[in-house]
Amino acid sequence: MDSAIQTLRNTFPPPQVLVPTHSLYTLLNKSYHAGQQADHRPAAIFLPRGRQDVVRFMRLMKPFFVQGDITLAIRNAGQQLTANCANIHNGITMDLCLLTGIRFRAHDNIVMIGAGERWGLVYEVLAGGLSLLSPREGFACDNVVNFEIVLPCGTTVHANANHRRDLFLALRGGGNNFGVVTRFDMRTFPQGPLYGGCLYYDLGEMPGQVEKLVRFLKDPVAGNAGDVDVDVRMGLTYAKKWDGVLGRNEVWYTKHVEEGEEDVVERGLEGCPFVEVKSRMSVLKMVSLSEAAQVKVDDVEGQRRCTTMNTTVKAHAPTLLAACTTFLNSSNTMDHIPGLYFSLTLQPYPVGMLHKSSLLGGNSLGLKPADGPLVGIILVAYWDDANHDEEVLRAMKWVLGKVEDEAADRRTGFPLKLMNYAGEFQDPIASYGPHNRWKLGEVSRKWDAEGVFQKLVPGGFKLLT
Ligand SMILES: Cc1cc2nc3c(=O)[nH]c(=O)nc-3n(C[C@H](O)[C@H](O)[C@H](O)COP(=O)(O)OP(=O)(O)OC[C@H]3O[C@@H](n4cnc5c(N)ncnc54)[C@H](O)[C@@H]3O)c2cc1C
Repeated sequence: MDSAIQTLRNTFPPPQVLVPTHSLYTLLNKSYHAGQQADHRPAAIFLPRGRQDVVRFMRLMKPFFVQGDITLAIRNAGQQLTANCANIHNGITMDLCLLTGIRFRAHDNIVMIGAGERWGLVYEVLAGGLSLLSPREGFACDNVVNFEIVLPCGTTVHANANHRRDLFLALRGGGNNFGVVTRFDMRTFPQGPLYGGCLYYDLGEMPGQVEKLVRFLKDPVAGNAGDVDVDVRMGLTYAKKWDGVLGRNEVWYTKHVEEGEEDVVERGLEGCPFVEVKSRMSVLKMVSLSEAAQVKVDDVEGQRRCTTMNTTVKAHAPTLLAACTTFLNSSNTMDHIPGLYFSLTLQPYPVGMLHKSSLLGGNSLGLKPADGPLVGIILVAYWDDANHDEEVLRAMKWVLGKVEDEAADRRTGFPLKLMNYAGEFQDPIASYGPHNRWKLGEVSRKWDAEGVFQKLVPGGFKLLT
């Protein structure tokens, strides 16, 4: 490792190869979403200033890769919580924060986004996973039309529907298994202001809301037809500071309107079952897309202990209600944990969204419109102290296991574990199905014959284990 770092220091100026004594190293290593990621102490943080630096890095590190002398993690915003994924102990963390640049190509409405950019800024310039536009526009990865990627051998290629289609589809959902993506080219579409936000309400209203969610998802117009303009995430949230659990709906009306027609958007949620609750707190308002992204960021608590995990079920009210009951019972047993915030979110995959996903060329997740409507069940916990890591993880795994067992009993379970929220013990790649898993493995063998991203980029979810 020492000689690999020395090689980097001989090639790049000091601010690009940060070692633990450097003040910027400390700052960057503290800027992860969760405390567990900041616990890792990489031997060095490498900051490429552009694609050419990534190419040089790969070429310089090749001999060290061949000898198995170094391990690598690639970091973008650093929100994925899996160990060694966006930060690596005693290895090299490549932090992409300087790979910026957003360029709009007007003739075909494509935006080219440097891999280190953040959504808030992209939205500001123009006007992700799953976003509030996903019900209408598919998964964020479905909207990438071209990836610029530096392969482990140090060659830069473009992968799109016409060139290297196998790699293109693999990058849509296949994780950090193929190389360093340096630019994402994405389709754009008109988007006016949005109306929505979060509502918190008493538990007694939850069963009725869950039933309305399932009715909405099964409605041939609202949930199944092409455009789904209402985005809803429903959930239960325990917060130590509230000393109890509240129901929570995050609802957005996303239909595009031209300037001056904002009242159409505002009226869009009138009569919507998800805002018709006796709310304790409500922050529904008209916002731009970048402000909506900010609402999400404000809702997130950084730099504490944090874990997520998820499963997927059919849109079936008794299954979802059983999941809510299991969650409620467990949150009662965890209320002694300092600073605990624990939530269960029902994240719908409407049939219309799955249609859109396949219209846009599909991805590696293996979902078909006929599978829907589906609902992701996502558990997220934050807490104060590393001493409680094991206890929280054990309790969350118990909840997830019970939710899956009960869904299996009702025959309403579904294999998908979304990678974005997967716990370390989960296997999202296997959940895509044996054929997709095999195809991803083949792509890895073809474009990374030496298996650098399988063996020496050990964090995340690997293909050839
Ligand atoms: C509080 C919270 C809220 C969330 N909300 C949502 C949500 O609403 N919707 C959703 O879909 N997901 C959500 N997620 C999940 C999150 O979006 C994913 O974990 C996502 O991958 C994080 O992106 P990032 O830029 O932070 O990636 P990082 O954590 O920096 O990296 C994620 C993985 O991708 C790899 N990687 C990153 N950049 C590159 C690159 N350029 N080339 C190759 N590999 C790369 C990394 O090595 C790592 O394995 C949430 C997570 C948290 C903690």
